[in-house]
Amino acid sequence: MAEEDCIFCKIVAGELPSTIVDEDERTIAFMDINPAVRGHVLVVPRAHSRNLFDVPEEDLVACAIASQRIVRRMRDALGAEGANILSAAEPVAWQTVFHFHIHVIPRNRDDPLKLPWVPAAGDMDEIKAAGAELTRG
Ligand code: AMP
Ligand code: ZN
Repeated sequence: MAEEDCIFCKIVAGELPSTIVDEDERTIAFMDINPAVRGHVLVVPRAHSRNLFDVPEEDLVACAIASQRIVRRMRDALGAEGANILSAAEPVAWQTVFHFHIHVIPRNRDDPLKLPWVPAAGDMDEIKAAGAELTRG
C-alpha cells in the first residue's frame, strides 16, 4: 500500500523521477540523490513500511537479496573493492525518509568515509548484562 506524502512510494509509483538500477516483483533500487560516495544506491520494498521494526519478512528478505545483486554489480561494474549496507530505524538512528530502505554503498581503499564510532574495548560485565537483556527467555 502506498502511503500519502511518502517520497519513496512516489518513486515506486513513477510519480517522482529517480535513476532506477534494479527492479523485481517486491523491490526497486535507485541512486541516492545525496550520495555518500559515487555509486550509492538505495534498495526499497515496493510496499510501504516505516523501517526495520515493521517491514514484513518477505520484503526484508527480498531487499537483502536485491542488495547482494547490487554489491556484486558494484564490484563488477564500478570496480568497488568492498561495500557497506546500512539501514536507519527512527530519527535517533538518522532515519530521514520513513519508508524502509537499505543503503548500499560501494567502498574503496581511498574513499573518504569513516566509521561513525571509535572501536574500544567495553566493560565485560556490561556487555554480558546487555546480552542477558537481549536474550530471548
Ligand atoms: P535515511 O536518512 O537513512 O532515511 O536515508 C534517506 C536517503 O534518501 C538519504 O540518503 C537521501 O539522500 C535519500 N533521498 C531522499 N530523497 C531522495 C530522492 N528523491 N531520490 C533519491 N534519494 C533520495
Ligand atoms: Zn512509502
